[in-house]
Parts: sequence; C-alpha cells; structure tokens
Amino acid sequence: MMNKLTALLLLLVAPLGADALEVFACEPEWGSLVKELAGDNVNLTVATTAFQDPHRLQARPSLIAATRRADLLICTGADLEIGWLPLLLRRAGNPDIQPGRPGHFMAADYVRKLEIPVLVDRSQGDIHPQGNPHIHLNPNNISRIAIKLAERLGVLDPANESDYMDRLQEFQYRWKSAIVGWEQRGELLSGLRLASHHRGFSYLADWLDLNIVATLERKPGIPPSAAHLASLLETLSPNPPAAVVRTPYANEKPSLWLTERLDVRALRLPYTVNVVDGPVDLFALFDMTLAALEEVHNERL
Ligand SMILES: [Zn+2]
Repeated sequence: MMNKLTALLLLLVAPLGADALEVFACEPEWGSLVKELAGDNVNLTVATTAFQDPHRLQARPSLIAATRRADLLICTGADLEIGWLPLLLRRAGNPDIQPGRPGHFMAADYVRKLEIPVLVDRSQGDIHPQGNPHIHLNPNNISRIAIKLAERLGVLDPANESDYMDRLQEFQYRWKSAIVGWEQRGELLSGLRLASHHRGFSYLADWLDLNIVATLERKPGIPPSAAHLASLLETLSPNPPAAVVRTPYANEKPSLWLTERLDVRALRLPYTVNVVDGPVDLFALFDMTLAALEEVHNERL
C-alpha cells in the first residue's frame, strides 16, 4: 500500500521524461547517431529529412520552438547550415546552445575536411567555403564523432554518463565490425567512375576509392546550366561514367538529361537516414549505398 502510494507520488512530481535531455539535430544522420548513443534518455527533434537540402531550410516556428527548449544542438557545421542556423539560433534566444557552449556540437569540428578551397569566392555562390561539409558518408568519421558526442552527452547529463559510455562501446563494436564488412565489399568498387549532381558524395568516394569524374553543378550550389551540361556531355561521351548519382533532395532533371544522352544510370543514392522509403538507421544507410553501387558495378561486367 505504502509502495503504491510512493510510486503514485513519484509519478506526480516527476512525470516520465521530464528530466530527459532535449536534443535538436539538424540532419537525420546526427539524429540517428543520437538514438544509438542516448536511446530513451533524450527527447529528439530532427530539423531536416532526406528530402530537404540541408544547405537551405526555413526557420519555421516549430523549429524555433524546438531550439528554444533544446539542451543540445547537434549539426554538421563547416557552414553546411550557414543559410539558416544562425537565424534559428538568434530567434530561439536559448543561451545553452549558442556557439562556444557545451550544448553546441558541430560534428565537422572533429574530422578532416576534404576540398578546402584555396581561395573562397562567395560571389560565385560557392556554398562549401570551409571545405566539403558532407562528412557523414565516410563511416570512420561517424566513429570519431560518436566518441565526442557520447562525451558531450555525459557532460550535459552526468546522471546518465555511464549509460552513454556503455552505449558508445556497444555502438563502436558493432560499427567497426560493420566497417570491415563494407570495406571488403568496397574493394570490388575501387575505381568505379561516377558523375555527381552536387559534391555530396566526396567522403564516400574518398573512403571507397570511387572516381568522381564530373560534377553537374559547376560550383557547389549553382544549379547545372544547359551550357555546362552540354559541355559535360561532350567531355564524358567518349568514356561515360557508370552512373550519375544524386541525393533524394536534388532536382532529378539535370541527371536525367545527361544520363539519357550518355545511356548510363541516373542513381538516387540514400545519402542519409530516411524512414519514409530509405535506410532506417546508419547501418542500413551504408548497406543500401553499397548495394546500389554494387548493382551499377555488376551491370557493367
Ligand atoms: Zn553541399
């Protein structure tokens, strides 16, 4: 009787989840990593889906509300969200997640960036001024970021610190054995020639030694012009790539125009976690990406 009463009182004073850390993830890949490392210890909001360009987003009221209550903000950084995150942070007015605070976590701070420009010329619309920000498609980057993220969760939520460390260890064990399997499959794909709509797959290519021979955007963020596509058709025709790859959020028309004329595959890769019609978690993201590339590779045998 006493126990029941105590339990009831506890429920009244501490509703379930009231103490849970509020986490705001800018992109689905980080939302997924948070789920791996934090499970039910956190309440998670993910700002974008696989169908939204993470470079461009409206700071809509629901996102402002979510950043206002967040204890931790996890985004890619490296200017990927420069078009919307600063505005969102200003509107949220939440001191805990501003730059420099423990609640502000930028994944790109912990990995080596590719394609760092020698000279930044924003007047030409380059949206990768700090190097390529699409860092998550090398699983070794995910592994490095997981360590830093678990530490940060422990700092913000010391009561559950040992739980975050246990989950990190368990994740790293599964993740590293998955990487071994992916790299074995990847050996067959080494040197596979691809064209890409946007420079969204540079880290995947770097990891698997894929050869991205052309980009449909003349500069990151500049929509492919008819003239540029025509010149790509001319240069690629003698030795076409195996496929033209794009993200789920990219406009498919330039890829289709070029692939029809080159008679090669237009391939929508998963790019990120996508619970609608794609990979449900980070493991499935790499499994599905490799499967798609293997299919292209095998078609050409
Ligand atoms: Zn980009």
